[in-house]
Amino acid sequence: MKKYLNYIDGEWSESSSSKFVEILNPANGEVLGEVTQSTKEDVDRAVQAAKRAQKEWRLVPAPERAEFLYKVAFLLKERKEEIAQVLTSEMGKVIDEARGEVQEAIDMAFYMAGEGRRLFGDTVPSELRNKFAMSVRIPVGVAGLITPWNFPIAIASWKSFPALVTGNAVVWKPATETPIVAFEFAKIYEEAGLPKGLLNLVNGSGSVVGDAMVEHPDIDLISFTGSNEVGSAINARAGQLLKRTSLEMGGKNAVIVLADADLNLAVDGILWGAFGTSGQRCTATSRIIVHQDVKEELEQRLVQRIGELSLGDGTDESVKVGPVINRSSLEKIHEYVKIGQQEGAKLLAGGSIVTDNGLERGNFYAPTIFTNVTPEMRIAKEEIFGPVLSIISVKSLEEAIEVNNGVEFGLSSSIFTADVNLAFQAMRDLDTGIVYVNAGTTGAEIHLPFGGTKGTGNGHRDSGVAALDVYTEWKSIYIDYSGKLQRAQIDNY
Ligand code: NAP
Ligand code: MG
Repeated sequence: MKKYLNYIDGEWSESSSSKFVEILNPANGEVLGEVTQSTKEDVDRAVQAAKRAQKEWRLVPAPERAEFLYKVAFLLKERKEEIAQVLTSEMGKVIDEARGEVQEAIDMAFYMAGEGRRLFGDTVPSELRNKFAMSVRIPVGVAGLITPWNFPIAIASWKSFPALVTGNAVVWKPATETPIVAFEFAKIYEEAGLPKGLLNLVNGSGSVVGDAMVEHPDIDLISFTGSNEVGSAINARAGQLLKRTSLEMGGKNAVIVLADADLNLAVDGILWGAFGTSGQRCTATSRIIVHQDVKEELEQRLVQRIGELSLGDGTDESVKVGPVINRSSLEKIHEYVKIGQQEGAKLLAGGSIVTDNGLERGNFYAPTIFTNVTPEMRIAKEEIFGPVLSIISVKSLEEAIEVNNGVEFGLSSSIFTADVNLAFQAMRDLDTGIVYVNAGTTGAEIHLPFGGTKGTGNGHRDSGVAALDVYTEWKSIYIDYSGKLQRAQIDNY
């Protein structure tokens, strides 16, 4: 059986624990390999290596650091198909989406490599004569990255590229569910010739490896994407330790459909947003907020089209919806469906674990739609992270916005309308980090900030120039060339 190891200080190594965990294909239960389960000591070894490597790396000019990112980008391009196939078999998303995810990592590599020649600071006039003032970005030190399974390479790229180009070293813990994609990514860094110790991969559980990273005094910042439960616990502990955290967490994203909307377009956007990646995207559409005048019409069209979504192994090009990540996720989704029924919502489609045609060996859930959902119901408020959509009807745009904003999350939202005035009102008032007009809730591009308001995050953003703020400190520098003591705020007034 293929064994997946850690990559620490430029060497592939097994944890001293000698423990391994099996990696399963969620489409059929096949064992793909096993992954080493690291200890606190392994984390410490990785951190020491990172710390040593960063001392030299911070002195490498940023454009030279960026050269490694260009190499990574070209290697990712070369292996796009191979990695996409691995991603689908390990994580389950359909192959087209897996290719898109690898493309996102390629885009991010080129984009952040370009930052190596920017990393702009300010030069500003001093208030004193013969004095110069400027600000520069400096690396934070060792960045601890903790990533989820649903975008195993994209999110690792969103975090590791800006961390490295700005002069940090990285200790990365991928999700237990997706170590093979992590292995492929680390291998590419190795082949690109990134100096040893700058990118360390430490496999293992959140409770052991993740926890040790948060506690480690030489990890200067934690960049985390995952659930609110884990993110808020990390934040609480990091707060005590005065450690910087960047947290990207859950969503309860809605599509608003107004009475004048192009319903065909809305249906396309909704199906893609709700059932792509089997609803396991942080930006997945899980609510539709529809104007009462078009509710029935929209429901009819959705029910008709949902039947066309073929389920199966995502490596089959004709399949539209793949499995969910594991058994416990499948059960959690089904629990929510039962909760929805108990709450009085009406099931329009789906609502069951799929057990026919050999799919019972995988974790398949039928694309599900509830209607007559009210904003107070749990299915309208809590993140389900599966292919379950709730339809809520409203009487106006104002009410739609209120419903959209009435949840604890604030990641993504969308509105379908032909009225430019209403669209602009929505862009202003929707309280989410991402807003789409006449498109679904998913489809972020890497050169814009990605993240959410309220319970979705803690004010930071992945991707875009905004990501640089996570991995750098500002240093303000004053150079006095007057040859005498000049006291700011005093000698000039
Ligand atoms: P999760 O359980 O919170 O896991 C995320 C990562 O945290 C994994 O690597 C996990 O390791 C680790 N972890 C678990 N317990 C930990 C602890 N005590 N200390 C430190 N690290 C710990 O989330 P998930 O179930 O994998 O992912 C789904 C969630 O991610 C959803 O809520 C989704 O909305 C969110 N998400 C958000 C975004 C965004 O950008 N806003 C993007 C994608 C996903 P193990 O794998 O070993 O448990
Ligand atoms: Mg988990």
